[in-house]
Amino acid sequence: VPVSQRQPLVWFDGKFITGDAPEAPLTTHAMHYGTAVFEGIRSYATADGGAAVFRLPEHLERMRKGADMFGIEFDIERAGRAVLDTLRANGHRDAYIRPLTWMGTGTIGLDVDPLTQHLMVATLAKVVHLGGARTRLTVSPWKRNPATSLPPLKLSGAYVNSILAKREAKQRGFDEALFTDDKGYVVECTGANVFMVKNGEVTSVEHRDALPGITRDTMIALSGAQSREVTLHELLDADEVFVCGTAAEACAISVLDRREFGDNPVTRELAALYAQVVRGQDSRYAHWLTAV
Ligand code: PMP
Repeated sequence: VPVSQRQPLVWFDGKFITGDAPEAPLTTHAMHYGTAVFEGIRSYATADGGAAVFRLPEHLERMRKGADMFGIEFDIERAGRAVLDTLRANGHRDAYIRPLTWMGTGTIGLDVDPLTQHLMVATLAKVVHLGGARTRLTVSPWKRNPATSLPPLKLSGAYVNSILAKREAKQRGFDEALFTDDKGYVVECTGANVFMVKNGEVTSVEHRDALPGITRDTMIALSGAQSREVTLHELLDADEVFVCGTAAEACAISVLDRREFGDNPVTRELAALYAQVVRGQDSRYAHWLTAV
C-alpha cells in the first residue's frame, strides 16, 4: 500500500498503533475533565528532499510547563524522539504534529495523583488553516480565560473557551473570534496571536492572558516588532492586522467587524519571509530547525 493511502500511525506510550485503536478507556480522566496538555507543531519539506520540524524544543518546553500543572511527568527528549519517529514512520514531510499527554484512569475524582499518565504523538498530512488568505475577524462576546484562573498554556480543558468563541463567530458569518478584555485591550484569537502595522511599524499585541506563541516570538524576531499592550481602538485604527500561529502562519485580516482593511504589503512580506525560514531557505535561522 502506498504511504499516502496507509492509515497513519500514532505513537502511544512508546509503541506505534493506528489512530482508531481503542487505547483510551471511557473512564479516561482527560475525557471527563480536560486534564490533558497538547501541542501544535509543524514540519516542512526542505529543499534537500528531507524535512525539518520548526522550533521543536520551544514547543516541547511549553508542553512541559503545561504537564507540570497537573504533575504529569514529561520527558522532553523522549517526546522529541517520538515526534521524529512518528514523522518517519508515516513518511510525512509537510505535517501538523499533535502530541498529547493526558491523565488516564485510577479515579473519577478530582485528585489527580492516583491517575495513570500517557503520551501520544499523531502527525497529520493536512493542516487545518484559519480563514485562508482573507480572514474575517469579529470581537467575541466571550472573554478569554483570565491567567489568574487558567494559565495561558495548552491545557486541553481551557480550549472550551476558544471553541465557544469560534463557534459564536462562525454563527455570525465570521472566520475567527478576537478576545478583548474588560478594559478594552486586545488579548488574542482562539488559536493565534495578534499583530498590527501602522505607518510601516509592526507591533505585537502583548497580554497576560494570551498564550505566549512561538510564531509570535518568531515574527517579532523577523520583523523587529515592538511588543506592548494594544487597545481594540488602536487595532481598528491600524493599516494592517494579521494573526499568527503554528497552523495559521501569518494570516492577514480583511475584516474586523465593520472595519475593512485594504492592501497588506507588510504582512505579505513577513509571511513570505516566514515561509522561507520554516523551510530552511534562510541560513540565519537554521538553528530553529530540527532535521527529521
Ligand atoms: N494562541 C492560542 C490560544 C493558541 O492555541 C495558539 C496555537 N498554539 C497560538 C496563540 C499561537 O501559538 P503558536 O505560535 O505557538 O502556535
